[in-house]
Amino acid sequence: MYADLHLHTHFSDGTYTPEELAGHAARCGFKAVALTDHDTMEGCERMGAACTERGVEFVPASELTAQHDGIEIHMLGYFLDARHERLLTELARFQTVRVQRIHEMVSRLNKLEVPIQAEAVFALANCRAPGRPHVARTLVQGGWCSSLDEAFERFLRKGRPAWVPKFKISAMDAIQLIHDAGGLASLAHPGLNHADEIIPDLVAAGMDGIECFHTKHSTTLTQRYLEMADTHSLLVTGGSDCHGMSKGRPLIGSIKVPYECVTRLRDAVLKRATDNAPMLAADAASEGPVRDRQS
Ligand code: AMP
Ligand code: FE
Ligand code: FE
Ligand code: ZN
Repeated sequence: MYADLHLHTHFSDGTYTPEELAGHAARCGFKAVALTDHDTMEGCERMGAACTERGVEFVPASELTAQHDGIEIHMLGYFLDARHERLLTELARFQTVRVQRIHEMVSRLNKLEVPIQAEAVFALANCRAPGRPHVARTLVQGGWCSSLDEAFERFLRKGRPAWVPKFKISAMDAIQLIHDAGGLASLAHPGLNHADEIIPDLVAAGMDGIECFHTKHSTTLTQRYLEMADTHSLLVTGGSDCHGMSKGRPLIGSIKVPYECVTRLRDAVLKRATDNAPMLAADAASEGPVRDRQS
């Protein structure tokens, strides 16, 4: 029994609808999957329904853009409460800045005599968390670039003329936010960060897990992070990071994480809720007289 805990839909920079992705998950024989769109949970409701219909367990999640010591990292939040008020407020802030960033990228492209319009990017993205891939697709559709790679190489890659930095929250705030929303925080694809030295700080801040299995992790890297998980008593997560078709086939199915990882996440979430229950009850009791005084 296997799971894939890192997947994207068109609600961020993937190309599949939740229904298409859930279909792939079922065909791959996954027992559970998580949807981890960047800085949004917009697709979770549909993905949950589509998974349930196909007999696949669904884990509501998101991949938050964060930073620590000036290094960009992605923090995965699992079992998030998609209706948590502060989480929704924070996600809306990410999304507002992403929209502003598209305007800024388009304005830079316009100055480079590439007359695309922000509205065209938003129409193509059709989601609350637009990003560089949507600008790249607009450039290809308009005939300004012949491929997505060319769009990134010429304009959008860091240091290129239309590159605009992205809004990031601090890693500590990301971990706290994920916990407040009832979830567990796991560091996405540490092998791509080349910054293992920050991991102890993240562990000290209460990070719960680490993504050991990932398409871009070699066997050696996977082994290294499994050992690190053991050393720091972290939960193990992993997934394909599928964004749709890649080199003629979808990445989903290329990474199969033992289902036991999901069981451990679920147990940890339940334990956290139980541990917090007496605190919540005490909070409610102490709030009682205050409300009485006000009324
Ligand atoms: P953003 O979050 O707006 O900065 O966009 C980052 C996303 O762009 C990544 O998650 C990838 O999906 C995509 N990306 C980055 N570099 C490339 C590239 N060279 N070709 C295609 N997609 C890319
Ligand atoms: Fe992505
Ligand atoms: Fe990522
Ligand atoms: Zn991802």
